Amino acid sequence: MGRILLYVVLIAAVSLVAVWVAEQPGDVRLIWRGYLVESSVSMLFVLVMACAVLLAFAYQVLNFVLSSPRLIQTTRRNRFRENAYRSLTRGMVAVAAGDIKAAKRAVRGTEGFLSGSPLHLLLTAQAAQLEGNELLARESFKAMLTDPESEFLGLRGLLVQSLRKGDKKTALALARRAFEINPRAEWVLTNLIDLETVAGNWPDAEQSVIAAQRANGIKPENARRRRAVLLYQRAQVALDQGDEKAARDLAKRSANLKADFVPAVVLASKLLASAGRLRRARKLIARAWQSAPHPELSAVLVEISKPLNDLSRIKILEPLMSLKPGNMEGHLALASASLDASLWGAAREHLGEAAKGIPDQRLYRLMARLEEGENQNDAAARQWLLKASRAPSEPAWKCRECGEISNNWVIQCYSCEGVDSFEWGRGTNGPNGGAADELLFAAPSKRA
Ligand SMILES: [Zn+2]
Repeated sequence: MGRILLYVVLIAAVSLVAVWVAEQPGDVRLIWRGYLVESSVSMLFVLVMACAVLLAFAYQVLNFVLSSPRLIQTTRRNRFRENAYRSLTRGMVAVAAGDIKAAKRAVRGTEGFLSGSPLHLLLTAQAAQLEGNELLARESFKAMLTDPESEFLGLRGLLVQSLRKGDKKTALALARRAFEINPRAEWVLTNLIDLETVAGNWPDAEQSVIAAQRANGIKPENARRRRAVLLYQRAQVALDQGDEKAARDLAKRSANLKADFVPAVVLASKLLASAGRLRRARKLIARAWQSAPHPELSAVLVEISKPLNDLSRIKILEPLMSLKPGNMEGHLALASASLDASLWGAAREHLGEAAKGIPDQRLYRLMARLEEGENQNDAAARQWLLKASRAPSEPAWKCRECGEISNNWVIQCYSCEGVDSFEWGRGTNGPNGGAADELLFAAPSKRA
């Protein structure tokens, strides 16, 4: 509306000026190279106006002719760009869908306009990985390291490749570099914790756990567990170096972080006892027993208490029963101690109670000892030993990743290289279930 009004006003103004000029008296004379040109003022005005319009039109035409190559180029560029980004989208979808052919076609589609860009490199790497061309994938990830925008992504790709190859040293260097760029990324922190741990850099690994805790990149209970494990490893190093005090403090810190981490509790209570702090050591064992009754705990309790005879050994173990009434481990420990003290009735009672759980080879072997000791019945003892051979094996430190069994807890599985993968659990051999009833009803009950 405003524009129309402006045109109307403009046309009116021009008409007024034209009328005014036409009404002006006088004429124009021009002498040029011997020619005389005569005209009225209005005619000159019309001529000047016509020249101006012609010049403006010529300028427009010239401008269009001069700028058209650039215009064509821009249009072409826009088309290339559109095609490249469309290929990129198709490529990402193809990679996600696992379509190798479509992914490779998309990579070719992004070449030219997007060549060397982080997105093109990423798609190239992913398509190469899909195809199994790890070399090309690595080259693409490496090229991404040169651009600060894509460096982090490139590091991740290379880290995954190194881990797949089992090259932990390179993986650690890459994870450290990624940590410098982004110390809060979850994948950086989890990888760094494991890689520092595997490399035996206990304090660095602990710092990574703390950083992960700050970034909420690790569950609190997992962080506590890993820190306890790392403190225990540091305690072992201190012990190897002959620094018993440092070892004791570290083991204590570990046991305090995770009261049921048996290796740390065992080490801490041994070191406390050797420093004359027997009560503190017993407290640690009692606390651990309440959450995780374990034969190593009852064994270390006996060891640090230095019993004078078999009867005092029973006295040392008895408090464990009140901490965890009815627990099979407590009954087995007391049954064994009772057999040593020739207390057959007590031994049979504890074995009967232990059989209410899932009887394993230990229980049957103790039954065999009872038969030998109480009744001197070798045939019955052999029967129990035969049953033992068919019974579920006793609990052991077992790798939850690969099932490997170890006599002691170790931080890394030597079979599958899993970190902190050993947990206390039952072996798998032998039939399971039904054995308890058989034991209770078939056990000879002739008492001395
Ligand atoms: Zn394993």
